[in-house]
Amino acid sequence: MKALVKSQDGQGLWLKDVPEPEMGINDVKIRVLYTGICGTDLHIYEWDAWARSTIQIGLVIGHEFVGEVVAVGENVPDVHPGQLVSGEGHVVCGRCRNCLAGRRHLCAFTKGVGVNRDGAFAEYVVLPMSNIWHHAPGVNPEVASIFDPFGNAVHTALAFPVLGEDVLVTGAGPIGIMAAAVARHAGARHVVISDPNPYRRALAEKLGVTRAVNPMETTLAAVQKELGMSEGFDVGLEMSGNPNAFRDMINSMSHGGKISMLGIPSQEIAIDWNKVIFNQLTLRGIYGREMYETWYKMTVMLESGLDIEPVITHRLNWRDYKDGFDAMRSGNSGKVVLDWRD
Ligand code: NAD
Ligand code: ZN
Repeated sequence: MKALVKSQDGQGLWLKDVPEPEMGINDVKIRVLYTGICGTDLHIYEWDAWARSTIQIGLVIGHEFVGEVVAVGENVPDVHPGQLVSGEGHVVCGRCRNCLAGRRHLCAFTKGVGVNRDGAFAEYVVLPMSNIWHHAPGVNPEVASIFDPFGNAVHTALAFPVLGEDVLVTGAGPIGIMAAAVARHAGARHVVISDPNPYRRALAEKLGVTRAVNPMETTLAAVQKELGMSEGFDVGLEMSGNPNAFRDMINSMSHGGKISMLGIPSQEIAIDWNKVIFNQLTLRGIYGREMYETWYKMTVMLESGLDIEPVITHRLNWRDYKDGFDAMRSGNSGKVVLDWRD
């Protein structure tokens, strides 16, 4: 089958003919229809220090996808050929304390699809049945292909109650924008998003934020004043990994404010811990999606009218994957989706 493979040491990704993935008795084999390109895929493409120390040469990469089931192992009772499915990108051990307690997103032995095992930038992908999400009828398949990052957004945005609250999102990448839309849909009053990138601020505005702010030009204090907020933001969603964004957030929270952090910093960040202590802030790290409460919430929020489709800004044939990676690198993109249907 055709696949995009990290077949050499160096920048790039190569189109290869590789054997179809083998199936075990608990596995599901899926013909891939659409895939999303994730920031992680870009790290692997660029071959940065993290990628060099993590990825084995020969890996088929990619983990955001939707596809059609073509075969199931003999132990798989409830997934059937023809169904439209996506895959949870974290394959957990199933046996540790957290897994056994149903807290699978906390498994310390997680393996990443397209990172630690072959992924979905291919004609076929195989996953354990416990990683399969069967989509509700009527879902837009392109939107279904980005359930993985949409799930990051939902997990982060719903980590703390947002109904009636004022929410600050730092970072208007695709995940920050989706998280802002989720917070809005879940009943937040004001949703302010910050990003120095004008393309992304404009995209965030399309998805219905109260204000999209350039942090290099406008202080969050000025925005709070303009919106008539008495004290500060109640909930913060850190979606940039940027030290200044995180410091801005810490400085802009109301007393008792709650921050969930998804953005991955590339270095240690020093903050004024007095703000955390005296303002009694809660900081919570978020990784991946809850299995499968987050997936359930994604499905029902789409059914109840949330529209994240405008976050998809580029649609390309899979053979043009290099253009997709270029669009990601430029910063002038939301989600980039590749079509694998031929
Ligand atoms: P992205 O890189 O596309 O977006 C980050 C945005 O932050 C960019 O638009 C950038 O312009 C903006 N930014 C930079 N400096 C800023 C500042 N000072 N203030 C405000 N914004 C600033 O990333 P994404 O794909 O949307 O993902 C969001 C983050 O989440 C990334 O850091 C990514 O690595 C991380 N992530 C974490 C998980 C997890 O499970 N924890 C999963 C996926 C992605
Ligand atoms: Zn486990």
